[in-house]
Amino acid sequence: MTELQSRITCPVDFGKVGKQVCHLRLPYSSNVSAYGWIGIPIAVLKNGTGPTVYLNAGNHGDEYEGQFTLVRLIRELDPTEIQGTLIIIPALNLPAAMNHSRCSPIDGANLNRSFPGEPDAPDHRPTAAIAYWVANVVAPLCDAFLDLHSGGKTLDYVPSALIRRTSENDAHFQRKLAALRAFGAPIGYIVDGGSPSAGGGSRPPTLNALIDGKGAVSMGTELGGAGTVTLETLEVARRGVHNFLAHVGLIERSPYADATPEPRLVTIAGPDYYVHAPCRGAFEPAFDLGEEVEAGQLCGYIHQIDDPTVPAVAVHFERSGVAFCKRPIVGVERGDCLAHLGTDWEG
Ligand SMILES: [Zn+2]
Repeated sequence: MTELQSRITCPVDFGKVGKQVCHLRLPYSSNVSAYGWIGIPIAVLKNGTGPTVYLNAGNHGDEYEGQFTLVRLIRELDPTEIQGTLIIIPALNLPAAMNHSRCSPIDGANLNRSFPGEPDAPDHRPTAAIAYWVANVVAPLCDAFLDLHSGGKTLDYVPSALIRRTSENDAHFQRKLAALRAFGAPIGYIVDGGSPSAGGGSRPPTLNALIDGKGAVSMGTELGGAGTVTLETLEVARRGVHNFLAHVGLIERSPYADATPEPRLVTIAGPDYYVHAPCRGAFEPAFDLGEEVEAGQLCGYIHQIDDPTVPAVAVHFERSGVAFCKRPIVGVERGDCLAHLGTDWEG
């Protein structure tokens, strides 16, 4: 039993050779379980010498490609196939994953807006405790991180992987860029500067931003979404995870090495890459996911279905680019993201 610097305890011995699969224990006293804990599944594989690599999914509970890929990887991967240590958490915000929701049903919190977390978060705010454990127990151990996301129920992506552009250390950025290429998603995108979608200026409260601050290789994904999976998005996820593990030296060779296309590299460099609903209503898109659009092009209409005399509100793209993210839900409120663009990365 390893005692950790947080409210979470972990039955894993990170130095033990072989495969361990068990549960992190996050104390949670509720109406149905006075002395209970939330069991977050974790697998640790160790063999020989090599890097320590961290994979997680279920940071958001309604994003399934990574969760399916990692539970399968835990079952299939034999520790003798690796050199180093592999830490896998397939459903990091377990209450959200069990609820099929982006945020936790217990505290309403979004884990990927909760880093670096809190050491003494009370029972009724478990999300901050999870963030703190990752930031203070796992992060110092690891050389490379992959945080598997997708669009969830409210967004749908052309399968993508992403890194952040940080101006303070170009060598670090180049290491992340090499990992982005190696992952081999159809789109590899670079968030330049701040992240308008995550807030928080140049250092938003996300896992990727936290790891960036520590200098390790950190990468995320947006593998699909719309609250489901497709054969394509699952294939990109599985292929990308193996390619990533080979790239960082944990496995000798990816089985997909000869079947991985070069990604199209794009960037998101400002708030004008995003389109948001200006009012409540029913969104009728006027573009297809993955379409090349021009500045001023129609993004869609927002209808007031209950009153046909009210003209539909036309919404336009502010700039040109590839529309690789789209809202798959018709109902919208003012401020909902309808789409976002990328533009080709110039280096
Ligand atoms: Zn996500």
